[in-house]
Amino acid sequence: MQAIVTGHSRGLGAAIAAELLARDIRVLGIARQGNAALAAAYPALLQEAGLDLADTASLRNWLDGGQLGDFLAGDGGPLLLINNAGVLGPMAALEAQDAGEIAAAMAINVSAPLLFSAALARRHAGELRILHVSSGAARHPYPGWSIYGASKAALDHHARCVAADGRAKLRICALAPGVIDTDMQTTIRASDAADFPLKDKFVALKAEGRLSTPQGAARAAVDYLLSEKFGSQPVADLRELG
Ligand code: NAP
Repeated sequence: MQAIVTGHSRGLGAAIAAELLARDIRVLGIARQGNAALAAAYPALLQEAGLDLADTASLRNWLDGGQLGDFLAGDGGPLLLINNAGVLGPMAALEAQDAGEIAAAMAINVSAPLLFSAALARRHAGELRILHVSSGAARHPYPGWSIYGASKAALDHHARCVAADGRAKLRICALAPGVIDTDMQTTIRASDAADFPLKDKFVALKAEGRLSTPQGAARAAVDYLLSEKFGSQPVADLRELG
């Protein structure tokens, strides 16, 4: 078994990569920065690719190229794809949204996961499990988060449609992971309440110690990914799994 984890350099993706490596699963981590701590701890199990997922043209080339082919050739067994890398994008009402920030957010949050999914379904003949890291924002309208919410809702519906394709040896789930203590939450708490009216709710969650740790969320997500139940529902919430 081996895994591809996007956004393994920090936050939830780093914790998911660590959890997989600790279970002796080879990982190809993809982010703009490396993860020096994991590379030092698991030199034989971790490979890294420095990619900017906002650059869709470069990603298309990379997905057809040799580094991915070499990694896939290492093990014909089950392959895990964890589409974790994500950004909030512009937190603002429509008229204040920057075009470049919209395009980058959609490339990172939507195009990249969809391109990875299609490429791996094409290039890997064995069992494939795809985990899209979604968000409660896909399922509830948050003012100021139209880009982020739309991008995560796209992942939810991609998972539903791929599941409906009924491809043999493929399981997929878009999983909302809960509120996790990462850089993304720091960015939310630093936002302007005029742009993101629910900011105070997230400030209170942190103050009350109600955020999950990346390690706890990663352990639960990997347990689910590796379980028999994975893929039985294409859209799920980590907080509601029995
Ligand atoms: P984070 O701490 O901000 O980490 C984001 C990760 O995505 C980093 O590893 C980053 O790597 C990577 N990334 C961002 N832009 C990239 C780019 N242009 N190219 C390649 N990689 C890029 O965020 P997080 O909280 O761990 O979030 C992980 C996932 O969980 C996201 O999909 C997020 O939407 C979702 N989520 C988080 C929460 C939460 O409460 N934290 C809640 C619901 C859902 P580099 O900077 O090295 O490129």
